[in-house]
Amino acid sequence: MRFTAKKLFFLLTVFLSSYVHAQMLIVKNGLPASRIIIVNDHPEEKTAALLLQSFIEKISGAKLPVVNKISVNKNGDILINNSDDNKSGLLKEGGFYLSCSNNMVGISSTAGKGVIYGVVTLLEKYLGVDYFSEFEYSFPKEKNIILPEIDMVDNPAFRYRQTQNYAIKTDSLYSLWFRLSEPNEEFAAGYWVHTFDRLLPSAVYGKSHPEYYAYFNGERHPGKASQWCLSNDTVFNIVSNKVDSIFKSYPGKPIISVSQNDGNYTNCTCERCKAIDDHEGAFSGSLITFINKLANRFPGKQISTLAYLYTMNPPKYVKPLPNVNIMLCDIDCNREVSLTENESGRNFMKALKGWSSISKNIFVWDYGINFDNYLSPFPNFHIMQDNIRLFKKYHATMHFSQVSGTRGGDFSELRTYLVAKLMWNPEVDMDSLMKHFLNGYYGVAGPYLYQYIKVMEGALLGSGLRLWIYDSPVSHKKGMLKPELMLRYNQLFDEAEKAVADDPVLLKRVQRSRLSLQYSELEIARTKTEKDYNDINNKLNLFEERVKEFNVTALNERNNSPVEYCKLYKERYIPHNEQSIAKGASVNYLVPPAKKYLQLADTALTDGLFGGSSFVDSWVGWEGSDASMIIDLGKTKTIHRVEADFLQQLGAWILFPVKVDYSYSEDGRNYTHCEMHDIPEDRSPEVKFAGIKSTLQQPVNARYIKIEVTATKVCPEWHYGVGHPSWMFMDEVTVQ
Ligand SMILES: [Zn+2]
Repeated sequence: MRFTAKKLFFLLTVFLSSYVHAQMLIVKNGLPASRIIIVNDHPEEKTAALLLQSFIEKISGAKLPVVNKISVNKNGDILINNSDDNKSGLLKEGGFYLSCSNNMVGISSTAGKGVIYGVVTLLEKYLGVDYFSEFEYSFPKEKNIILPEIDMVDNPAFRYRQTQNYAIKTDSLYSLWFRLSEPNEEFAAGYWVHTFDRLLPSAVYGKSHPEYYAYFNGERHPGKASQWCLSNDTVFNIVSNKVDSIFKSYPGKPIISVSQNDGNYTNCTCERCKAIDDHEGAFSGSLITFINKLANRFPGKQISTLAYLYTMNPPKYVKPLPNVNIMLCDIDCNREVSLTENESGRNFMKALKGWSSISKNIFVWDYGINFDNYLSPFPNFHIMQDNIRLFKKYHATMHFSQVSGTRGGDFSELRTYLVAKLMWNPEVDMDSLMKHFLNGYYGVAGPYLYQYIKVMEGALLGSGLRLWIYDSPVSHKKGMLKPELMLRYNQLFDEAEKAVADDPVLLKRVQRSRLSLQYSELEIARTKTEKDYNDINNKLNLFEERVKEFNVTALNERNNSPVEYCKLYKERYIPHNEQSIAKGASVNYLVPPAKKYLQLADTALTDGLFGGSSFVDSWVGWEGSDASMIIDLGKTKTIHRVEADFLQQLGAWILFPVKVDYSYSEDGRNYTHCEMHDIPEDRSPEVKFAGIKSTLQQPVNARYIKIEVTATKVCPEWHYGVGHPSWMFMDEVTVQ
């Protein structure tokens, strides 16, 4: 049992108990000295009672009786009382009143889970219990339990508090303990976000009524990812009737989300929609006009809608009705400093202030996660508190902090712990809370991990680089992940592991938290021209062993698995074939790549380096156009195989090509056609690579190889970039 300040306080209470009458004995010598009374027989009261009973038993061995609805109370009773009576008006939704005086403990709340949260506070604050993560908690062992005099009212800063921790799905106590809300508790039929296509399916109406869908670039775009024509009255009627039937089927649910599909600038620009948006000075104009009309029809319910990407800024004139919930997302912000400290943050703050001046019903969706690389370090701990304070200040009542969705993510457990505490009370002492968690969860390894977090935080700020939710560790290889710092991080983790080497539970926790460092090393190693393949192989094997052991199921938002990553890594970045004779060859672009890739394009296709799933390195991109190039081998060589490598990353609008055509020449004037490849459309969400290979029946002599690539050029109707230019990315051409 680790000795904490809480435990010291606990022992002190035990010691003082015989002198102070206000205190109350609930367990004496391992035997019950108290009863838990369920006052109104509400299910939340029962949950709270059983939670209290079970932890008191764990601590002391005494199982307090739980008694239902009795009329006469006696000394030593713990009353759990969930009622609609909020006479003093002090309690807000989720809040509770906790008292211990005159030999009676009271835990009361208005309807809802407040009584459960009151029990959690009693256990955490007065009985020394810590809940860390999925089935991971600690508690002291005591024969006597004595409570001091207590008189507290505690209310949450946000009435709705959501995160995405992986434990929510597996550990039923986790959400309760961390006081987390779940969308399905309030949102009808799982209509929570991006609901346009569910409410007005393009598969049903798209063909017969393209006019229901967005008009831009000269045509209507009916499709799964397309938005609605919000000024179309039939659209309103269909949606309104559908919403009505959903609310009727789910009478207990107060909210439904009627919100744009994912994707940017896919909104309708028909004459009527455009006129509204022009007048309102924002694309949210036509949206809020539509949503207000809907909210008017359902006065007792709430209609939630997104202020996201193109709708982030508020309209000038129309004000959301009180029962319109604005789900405002800061997805485009960089996270190395808090929202008021960089330009992307200030843009968001302008939108937040604007919405908060016309609405008191704001749901802020914030991101503390790297979607492309869950296992990449994401040192944003220093900005969490400032940002949550800002959301509170500008009237957000609901908050989703998207963090820790996967096992093995960067400090997933600590991250949710802190976020959950901050959503309840943005004024907590962050630094001592972080230390408390680290020392509790990792034991004596805690201080090393604290230092790791602090060194990296300083290095990020010192580097001047942004922290982005689609970063790759490679983006930081000259900043917070530069070699001398990687050495320091590894030393700290070595020391941390050594410190808990005798405790297998703590050691595993430290090792799991090391995964992001291991992953960064592997990612950075593949971009180096000089590699120690033995060392990389060892690191790869250890990484694979650990992700399997810790059941890490996803590497990114696209659900690529880490085990698959290891397999691909061996195929792509560790050479086992003969060297490419195109290495170092010059490339003459007949259709040049997009401007920002021009410089990289000089060498990237023939440098022997394959790109990763994030397109920050090695990849050369074309936007909205085909590609064509000639590889000049410098002199005539014998060739028998050509292969070009392509990327598909749907989230970044990067699609595989449609056709790849190879030909070769000795003199650079007369080309012999080699092979044309048709590439089938692939709609699966994972990030994918495709090596398109042509093998000649007989080796031939050639100096020039021409590659002509037909790209999709425009995002198809099923893709969230529908109607907009798509990207095509190539990283390497190999010739053998
Ligand atoms: Zn329209």
